[in-house]
Amino acid sequence: MTSNTRVVVIGAGLAGVTLARRLGELGTPALVVGDEEHRPYNRVLLAEVLAGRYGPEVVALPEPAELIRARVTGIDRAGRSVRCADGSLIAYDTLVLATGSNAVLPPLRGLFTPDHELPEGVHAFRTMDDCLGLSKAVRPGVRAVVIGGGLLGVSAARALAVRGAQVVLAQQSERLMERQLDPAASGLVRRHLEDLGVEVHTECRVRDVRSVGGAVRSVEMADGYALGADLVVLACGVRPRTGLAEAAGLEVAKGVVVDDELRTSDPHVRAVGDCAQHAGTVYGLAAPALEQAGALAALLAGDTTARYAGTRSLTRLTLTGPDSPFDLAAFGETDPRPGDDVVQLADATRGTYRKVVVRDDRLVGGVLVGELGTVGALARAWEGAEPLPSDGGPLLHLLTNDGGS
Ligand SMILES: Cc1cc2nc3c(=O)[nH]c(=O)nc-3n(C[C@H](O)[C@H](O)[C@H](O)COP(=O)(O)OP(=O)(O)OC[C@H]3O[C@@H](n4cnc5c(N)ncnc54)[C@H](O)[C@@H]3O)c2cc1C
Repeated sequence: MTSNTRVVVIGAGLAGVTLARRLGELGTPALVVGDEEHRPYNRVLLAEVLAGRYGPEVVALPEPAELIRARVTGIDRAGRSVRCADGSLIAYDTLVLATGSNAVLPPLRGLFTPDHELPEGVHAFRTMDDCLGLSKAVRPGVRAVVIGGGLLGVSAARALAVRGAQVVLAQQSERLMERQLDPAASGLVRRHLEDLGVEVHTECRVRDVRSVGGAVRSVEMADGYALGADLVVLACGVRPRTGLAEAAGLEVAKGVVVDDELRTSDPHVRAVGDCAQHAGTVYGLAAPALEQAGALAALLAGDTTARYAGTRSLTRLTLTGPDSPFDLAAFGETDPRPGDDVVQLADATRGTYRKVVVRDDRLVGGVLVGELGTVGALARAWEGAEPLPSDGGPLLHLLTNDGGS
């Protein structure tokens, strides 16, 4: 079967679906090809599905007008067509790669069964299938070990604890969410997890996964200490999904290299979202994926002036539990350099913490935990990168004024 569709998008995730929707609004239809069997969904909300707060239908994205469920296995750039796993060919004039990322599987002994499968009870945390698999297995009292203490590991540990599991979180480095948070904010996240009953181990390296009869039984640390486990969650980061691009001879570094028009090294192929690398950066976050999709939709619909100039990305995490909502936001550089001005407000009783870092009268970073009223005003000051007024009060004002956010 050969069909003639002008714009073909590979990947029905946040970037691909948003691009197709915007293009539709601009009168340029696109065909989306996605390999997940579920209705397209917002991956950012998977932890809320795992926590039992939302059903899968709540996190669904609006379905693109033209969606084919198939896995693309190859790109013929000379013939301008893609091949799907079932052998069908789809012709394109413009191809968009929106293939997202894969979970990184850490090099642990015993992670794979002799059939190269993960043992029963061991799950990555990337897809709806991962989430439904975990959700089915979690029961009150189940022993769960989460490997990795970044944003994903923290969200997974919290969701499993809310479902009544006995959770141990093993983090290799010295603190949680170290990419986004400074030590004080990280300490509050740890306290929050511990209040939910999660046992947090930092500077702790998992070495082995032990299974019996194909089902996980324990994980072993580098120091030989063994932890019994019925469930193991691998939250060790993600890697851009670039296999198709590489096989097609496109320029790939960490991600598929794109310019300000989201164009790859082939002018007929663009890339957006987690799989794309723009100006040396692979973001791996929702806001840049949405911005890139918006810019590309404008370009493909004929706005020749549209450009993507990079995203100053704010990481925001809202975890709403039965009786303990927990919010945090972080942006820019949260660890000051010598000479920077820092303002910090901490309230140990309420578990709130706010800090901003200012360099040469410009806001360069900040972190807020527990109290996000000022996040809108801070994000605007940061995104605008405008000099702050120099009358001495603006930092405190930014931290204490809720600023209509
Ligand atoms: C649990 C979790 C929590 C997160 N929380 C946050 C958060 O709080 N804030 C934040 O900013 N970001 C968060 N993220 C990251 C965010 O989800 C991603 O940045 C975003 O989904 C990227 O969108 P995308 O469309 O590029 O990729 P994806 O959403 O991964 O979509 C890519 C799609 O392409 C499909 N695909 C790939 N290859 C093929 C092929 N060959 N043929 C057909 N289809 C293919 C994939 O199956 C997938 O459906 C989180 C991610 C996870 C997993």
